[in-house]
Amino acid sequence: MTQQRKPIVIANWKLNGGLDLICTSVASFIGKHFEAQIVICPPYIYMRDMMTFLQYSELQIGSQNVSKFKSGAYTGETSAQMLKQAGCALCLIGHSERRAMFAENNPGCRTKVQLALNHGLLPVLCIGETKEEREAGTAKEVIFTQLSEGLLDIDLTDKDICIAYEPVWAIGTGLAATPDMVQEIHRFIRDKLEALYNPTVAQRVRIVYGGSVNKTNAKELLNQEDIDGLLVGGASLDPDHFLEICKQANNVAQV
Ligand code: PEP
Repeated sequence: MTQQRKPIVIANWKLNGGLDLICTSVASFIGKHFEAQIVICPPYIYMRDMMTFLQYSELQIGSQNVSKFKSGAYTGETSAQMLKQAGCALCLIGHSERRAMFAENNPGCRTKVQLALNHGLLPVLCIGETKEEREAGTAKEVIFTQLSEGLLDIDLTDKDICIAYEPVWAIGTGLAATPDMVQEIHRFIRDKLEALYNPTVAQRVRIVYGGSVNKTNAKELLNQEDIDGLLVGGASLDPDHFLEICKQANNVAQV
């Protein structure tokens, strides 16, 4: 992480949590100042409840997904505009679970990135290889395809995005990628952003890592030059554990 980029820690609660978790999570952040940006993505149904508590903390709310449609007859969908109106700061796009279980693809992710940008949400485009792809030596190829197709013709001149590198084999498995492995891929992603855009965009975009992050491995990951933050699943469901990870991001931000 460099001083240029504000660290960000994002909690992805997935289909977990409830009002009790909202209360305990927000409570542990009340009155605490963070140099890092801290965002919790609860299930949609709890966003409003969470929002009412947020005035007492610096926490922000994000969405785990966004519709690729603006509005209309799309049962069960939630649009970028609605998320913005609900007070969301960001939305995850193309999480590997959505790609694997809800047939999300790169062109669809691209549409979502554009809609998020149009409505003032920070798109967090999730990319990452499977175990088979890593073993076959095609990880970088897969990552480049997800990146270039997910950002195809997206103008980033004065817009912000975030990239989340989440190797599928590391998500929810307890097998985090090593800091060296992650740094290598993040540098690769930044180089590709430079090739697709320019050095200014490449240096500005935050690239976060996700996959079995916990309070034990967070610090070393955050100390890598091109790791600008963390996307945390399982460990974010324990408020004390999550707070500890956020403190580590804060320490790195203050160095
Ligand atoms: C995730 O789902 O984005 C994630 C990183 O999960 P976990 O931290 O549990 O591996």
